Amino acid sequence: MGKARQLLNKVAELAPEMVELMRIVTAVPALGPANGGQGELAKLQALLPHLEALGLTMERVDAPDPRVESGLRPNLLAWLPGGDGPTTWVLSHLDVVPPGDLSAWGGDPWSLRVRDGRLYGRGVEDNHHGLVSSYFALKAMKELGITPPGPAGMVLVADEETGSGHGLEHVLKTRPDAFSPADLIVVPDGGDQSGGLIEVTEKSIYWLKVEVNGRQTHGASPHQGVNALMAAARMMTATREVLAGFPQTDQRFGLPHSTMEPTRIEEGVANVNTIPGRAVFYLDCRLLPEIPLDEVAAALRQSFEAIASQEGATVAISEVQRLQSPPATPSDAPVVRALQAAIRRVHGVEARPGGIGGGTVAAFFRQRGLPAAVWSKTNPSLHQPEEWVELETVVKDAQVMALLYAGLWEQD
Ligand SMILES: [Zn+2]
Repeated sequence: MGKARQLLNKVAELAPEMVELMRIVTAVPALGPANGGQGELAKLQALLPHLEALGLTMERVDAPDPRVESGLRPNLLAWLPGGDGPTTWVLSHLDVVPPGDLSAWGGDPWSLRVRDGRLYGRGVEDNHHGLVSSYFALKAMKELGITPPGPAGMVLVADEETGSGHGLEHVLKTRPDAFSPADLIVVPDGGDQSGGLIEVTEKSIYWLKVEVNGRQTHGASPHQGVNALMAAARMMTATREVLAGFPQTDQRFGLPHSTMEPTRIEEGVANVNTIPGRAVFYLDCRLLPEIPLDEVAAALRQSFEAIASQEGATVAISEVQRLQSPPATPSDAPVVRALQAAIRRVHGVEARPGGIGGGTVAAFFRQRGLPAAVWSKTNPSLHQPEEWVELETVVKDAQVMALLYAGLWEQD
């Protein structure tokens, strides 16, 4: 039997242990202080003996945070030493989101339940799935005495659910030299239900507040005022023309073009017979990565100011959120190629590199020129009550990671 086949079998044998580690990590609620919790330290401490048992080399990159009793948010780099090839890193986050409405759960969210091949509990999919998979990929290699071609590592971070300032962003600021552009970096915290989406890029997120000021007057005498709501309505309509000025498409995205949508409107006048002198609305723009946000801002300003002046109103535009997406991980990057081969073999799926409209922590890697790929065979139960994951999926994703870590994705 070939080495790769032995490794896949070994991972499968470890399935009962995967359930037990799931139970351990699910039992420690790791909520960030912004979610009313004490952070991730207790959870990392529960994991440490297991990491130590594999003989991993470990380095802590904790972030100080006075909002939690321990005063710190733990981040850990842990790796199995290997040859002098590039390091393969799998990054998972330790924190989870609150359980929400407890009555919508079939049991205690912090106590793992197993039924019909599925594991239930807060965090099992997001992100214990990735954490447990990568751990057992390393464990299988260790038990078979396989020396990986380069270091085989796990990155465990805090604070993913509440901004990553005390998590990956802190790690990359403190230890930028821990990662190299030659490394294979996988973030198993996104993907699709078939396992066939390797996320390599994401749209920029640009949220704007638009404040229109006119002059309030009686509903019967609009000629004596300036209807700010009418001006705002014309501006919202004009976003279609502004967007048409950015017609680029990128077929890697499920929705291959940029979007620009009016979303929220602040409450204006309370009665029907007053012409509003002020109107405030918001735009949610999701733009293809290569589009400079400054150009979008300038085009919107030009359009809105022209409308304001025609209406006799004034307009002020301010930024609510501005995340310029970094350049994509190339579709033929080594991490993408390796994942494609391993996914084909384990899941029997042709995975394609693609983009999403939201944001992931991989953007922090990409901002530093580190080609990260976001992948797992995921399901939509994350952040919901009765969050679940199939044990079989955890096993198979662990097999994919084991092939990556061991450099055996093309071997028998
Ligand atoms: Zn997550």
